[in-house]
Amino acid sequence: MSSALPFRTPIDLHTHSSVSDGTETPTELMRSAAAAGLGTVAITDHDSTSGWADASADVALTGVTFVPGMELSTRHGWRSVHLLAYLFDPTDAALTGEMARIRDARLTRAENIVNRIAVDYALTWDDVLAQTTDGATVGRPHIADALVARGYVPDRSAAFESILHPRNGYFEPHYAPGPLEAVRLVRGAGGVPVIAHPATRGRDGVVPTDYLAKLVDAGLFGLEVDHRENTPDGKERLLELAAQFGLRVTGSSDYHGAGKPNRLGENTTAPEVLEAIIAEGRGSAPVYA
Ligand code: AMP
Ligand code: FE
Ligand code: FE
Ligand code: ZN
Repeated sequence: MSSALPFRTPIDLHTHSSVSDGTETPTELMRSAAAAGLGTVAITDHDSTSGWADASADVALTGVTFVPGMELSTRHGWRSVHLLAYLFDPTDAALTGEMARIRDARLTRAENIVNRIAVDYALTWDDVLAQTTDGATVGRPHIADALVARGYVPDRSAAFESILHPRNGYFEPHYAPGPLEAVRLVRGAGGVPVIAHPATRGRDGVVPTDYLAKLVDAGLFGLEVDHRENTPDGKERLLELAAQFGLRVTGSSDYHGAGKPNRLGENTTAPEVLEAIIAEGRGSAPVYA
């Protein structure tokens, strides 16, 4: 189906740059998107919009449409829930206040994790800072990269499966708002909220139906169904829930450069869904070539 809007296909609405835990700068990411044959890409760094300006500046050169986005950290009880947000106002005081609070909490928490690891391994906080860019949203992937640099593990995935795994006792969570509060904040800033990879824990791990109903009432737009970490039975359940609640369905790569095996464009979003996102987004606009 062709669109009346000037964006191009294929469309990948979930990627990370070095502003958070991706390994490419926003500029490099735009060029990778062009090289991968994408027509439209959203940069959705964790809890930050610092990549938007450089990505926007590259649209004329690459011809790839840029959709401003973010992946906001939230928590429901013990479980981490990631909320994708598109086309919100990056200066909205309530939302930026919460983003700053999360990024600060992530720093303290990462230092605590490193201090515990340092009892058993030669690892310093400076090792971790050396793996981040200035002002980046710091996370376990940067600790993983520091462990790779020290030669303890071959790559990020191995670090997550060994030293960084919660069962080893170094892990701790960080502050994050509840999903319901996060959906309200995103909508309050004119944005369009979509739950990221909601079925990584399978059919029975999907957010409970009564709680999902509350998120829908608060303005949830959609569910990211086509994502490599959603299980097959979990995707089936998500499609049932989307039909039941009138939610839209997205697909995306969750590209992290060299930090994860996910490749740009390995999953994509239908043009009519992006049209609906643009119709509802009031805080910022896509940058067209
Ligand atoms: P954090 O938000 O600090 O708890 O770290 C979670 C981040 O780590 C997620 O955003 C993922 O991108 C990344 N991550 C989780 N598991 C893996 C893995 N097995 N390999 C590489 N990156 C991972
Ligand atoms: Fe990530
Ligand atoms: Fe995520
Ligand atoms: Zn992500």
